[in-house]
Amino acid sequence: MTDDALPFVLKALAGRSLVLVGMMGAGKSSVGKRLAAKLNLPFIDTDEEIEAGARMTIPEIFEKFGEPYFRDGERRVIARLLESGPCVLATGGGAYMNASTRERIAKASVSVWIKPDVEVLLRRVRKRSNRPLLQTADPEATLKRLLEERNPVYGLADIMVEAHDGPHEIVVEQILAALAARARAAPEGPRKVRVELAERAYDILIGEGLIAQAGPRIAALFPRARAAIVTDENVAAHWLAPLQQSLAASGIEAQAIIRPPGETTKSYAEFALVSDALIAAKIERRDVVIALGGGVIGDLAGFAAATLRRGVDYVQIPTSLLAQVDSSVGGKTAINSPLGKNLIGAFHQPRLVLADLATLATLPEREFRAGYAEVVKYGLIDDRAFFEWLEAHRAELFAGGPARAQAVAVSCAAKARVVAADETEQGARALLNLGHTFGHALEALAHYDPAILVHGEGVAVGLALAFRFSRTLGHCAGQDVVRVERHLQGAGLPIRIQDIKSLTASPDTMLEAMRQDKKVERGRLTFILARGIGESFVAKDVPEAEALRFLEAELA
Ligand code: NAD
Ligand code: ZN
Repeated sequence: MTDDALPFVLKALAGRSLVLVGMMGAGKSSVGKRLAAKLNLPFIDTDEEIEAGARMTIPEIFEKFGEPYFRDGERRVIARLLESGPCVLATGGGAYMNASTRERIAKASVSVWIKPDVEVLLRRVRKRSNRPLLQTADPEATLKRLLEERNPVYGLADIMVEAHDGPHEIVVEQILAALAARARAAPEGPRKVRVELAERAYDILIGEGLIAQAGPRIAALFPRARAAIVTDENVAAHWLAPLQQSLAASGIEAQAIIRPPGETTKSYAEFALVSDALIAAKIERRDVVIALGGGVIGDLAGFAAATLRRGVDYVQIPTSLLAQVDSSVGGKTAINSPLGKNLIGAFHQPRLVLADLATLATLPEREFRAGYAEVVKYGLIDDRAFFEWLEAHRAELFAGGPARAQAVAVSCAAKARVVAADETEQGARALLNLGHTFGHALEALAHYDPAILVHGEGVAVGLALAFRFSRTLGHCAGQDVVRVERHLQGAGLPIRIQDIKSLTASPDTMLEAMRQDKKVERGRLTFILARGIGESFVAKDVPEAEALRFLEAELA
């Protein structure tokens, strides 16, 4: 084994034991000792362990108490050994025939079947054998019968290697190589970000294929619960059936509530409709609402869950980039009032977030770009290094490379950190609104019409405006502003109000829309401004006249 293979071998074991199974005489003990030395694990031979415990040899145990007695002891000894931490275990030839032992081995270890060369085995048997099972008139015939009987069962082991009449080192190397290959082939497990909120803490899992695993993960959190899935027509077309299948396989029948896509779905009318559908689906206190979709569905289903029977649990399965990096994390849920966005809402944390990166494959490119604006936002708020990493990896991220998982994980971790420090937005959490005071105003002026503007695009323009405004007020150097603009523009995002086609905006209508935003405190406008990339701050004292002058210059 080359040194660089060792990390993969250890990854394949993941803290579990390595259990060798197979016929007597396959070299399990010699191979096991060598493996244990290489992996720096204790080596245990179960036959020796049994003999030591009984102070008798195995043939003596067989003779005195019979095979069933021995098998029972063997089962218990293996169970105990597997529970006492990782080791390399060589098991007796018959041990793996016991179904409960097999089950234990499968749970606590990686199993390896060392398949001996039958000729070599026969040769050894012909010479001499003290194996109790071969004390028959025709040991050769007995051995052949045992092989026929046992080989299909040994075949259930995780890894099989063939032993030939050579040095044990060869088998050792084969096993290590097979383990390393397993780890290399195994898909990366999901990344996990924990939102630390004491009794409301939860995990965000990020990875490919999480919808297919949703059933067991949700069943584990909500035993015997009823579930209802809230989703929209676009998302349902691709991801509802796989989710329902996964849930059904774990015994969860989940009714689907499918609503039209778009921001207008975050309305009083839709809220009533979804709530009534949840009641009709008999969702009660111990049950779970699953939000499958973008931020619109997450906000709507989350708010419905927050108010249904004064609060039922919900799980977020965000399917847009924006929802994966932002709206599904932090427990802000809301619908819109005709007077303003997100004005009717509640803080209600999800119990689990499953960000399945595979869903991004069906997300329209424009939506992906829009979500990217929120990713950039995290760099701009307080993580200059992340912004610089994005500058280097943007192309890979858009092409679907591993940078995607990294960017989503960093973004979620950033948001989780802020949320943990300020769950209900009293202070630090306000920084997450960087770009949003302007962005929300633009969305309002676009009447939330996605044909004109989607949320993330509004955020992109808002970020650029926040940086330009910061420069105008003398907080931020021009070169950082240019860098922000260049990065957003390179991602295909708008950076000026005029970039938004068919939007009619004037300095006055913009200011009026910003006043409607909930971040207004006693007539003074609150802005999130920046001293540079990664250095944002809350400015509560910006005179309206300054903002108006800035907007006039922007729209001139
Ligand atoms: P969205 O939910 O409308 O999704 C965008 C579009 O993409 C929709 O048409 C949707 O049907 C479609 N879509 C989503 N996933 C898809 C997939 N995998 N395949 C195909 N189509 C898919 O919008 P969004 O951008 O995800 O979220 C915007 C909303 O999120 C806004 O209402 C905003 O206020 C809210 N938001 C909330 C928070 C929060 O903390 N709660 C934070 C940011 C944004
Ligand atoms: Zn946003």
